Amino acid sequence: MMINSPVQQIKERLSIEEIVSSYIKLEKAGANFKARCPFHNEKTPSFFVSPDRASYYCFGCGAKGDIFSFIEEFEGLDFKGALKILAERAGIPLVQYSKEKEGEKEKLYRAMEEATKFFEKNLAENKKILEYLKSRGLEEKTIGDFKIGFSLLDWRTLFEYLKSKGFSDKEIELAGLVKKTEKGFYDRFRGRIMFPISDSSGRIIAFSGRIFEDDGKSAKYLNSPDTPIFSKSAVLYGLDKAKESIRKNNFSILVEGQMDLILSHQAGFRNTVAI
Ligand code: ZN
Repeated sequence: MMINSPVQQIKERLSIEEIVSSYIKLEKAGANFKARCPFHNEKTPSFFVSPDRASYYCFGCGAKGDIFSFIEEFEGLDFKGALKILAERAGIPLVQYSKEKEGEKEKLYRAMEEATKFFEKNLAENKKILEYLKSRGLEEKTIGDFKIGFSLLDWRTLFEYLKSKGFSDKEIELAGLVKKTEKGFYDRFRGRIMFPISDSSGRIIAFSGRIFEDDGKSAKYLNSPDTPIFSKSAVLYGLDKAKESIRKNNFSILVEGQMDLILSHQAGFRNTVAI
């Protein structure tokens, strides 16, 4: 299948006014729609959406484009992130790109995906930690929804697992999953309850690990370092799950930690995000 064919199918199924109006309020203006621009601050609308041209244009700041560029700008995603969101909305399955053609960032996304599965498997096999999470009020479904996992108190289990999946030392290091010493690589996260952090399209870009048995020496929380796919200051935890509800409610609830966020979502406050 040609790479651009899902893009065309998506454009046929989703109109520009439908996409834009799911984020901001549009007003009819002749054959077009207008709104206050989401990309710059203004009091009177100079942002126009044209259904005929399937595009938008702002006379104030010059922002312009189609549904893809709108999602990229609004959600702060790259093209593939926008493609993932729009394909889901249009109900069009995306064909997996072949591994050989995969770029550096795609490899890192896949490494994070594999690491998440590995941590989830560890948790499923560790009744003691599961029981602990339940005692903190988490339901099994919630644990699955948030892909919570566990990193073993061991030096190289994740590293060796990812090597067996075909990732290079360099890729695993770039993903922020290991640290390097003269003696070689070792897992950054050990003996921690693992919370994956996603971008707004739901791709896993980092982890926050909470120590399970405090040894008095290690930090209680350890986060992934900044990587080519993760910039700490640009991410809100839970935004991928909260954004629909934030749009519907027109406000969000901000909490501090991941447990607060997960428990809020579990209790039905789905417009909650965490710093
Ligand atoms: Zn503008």
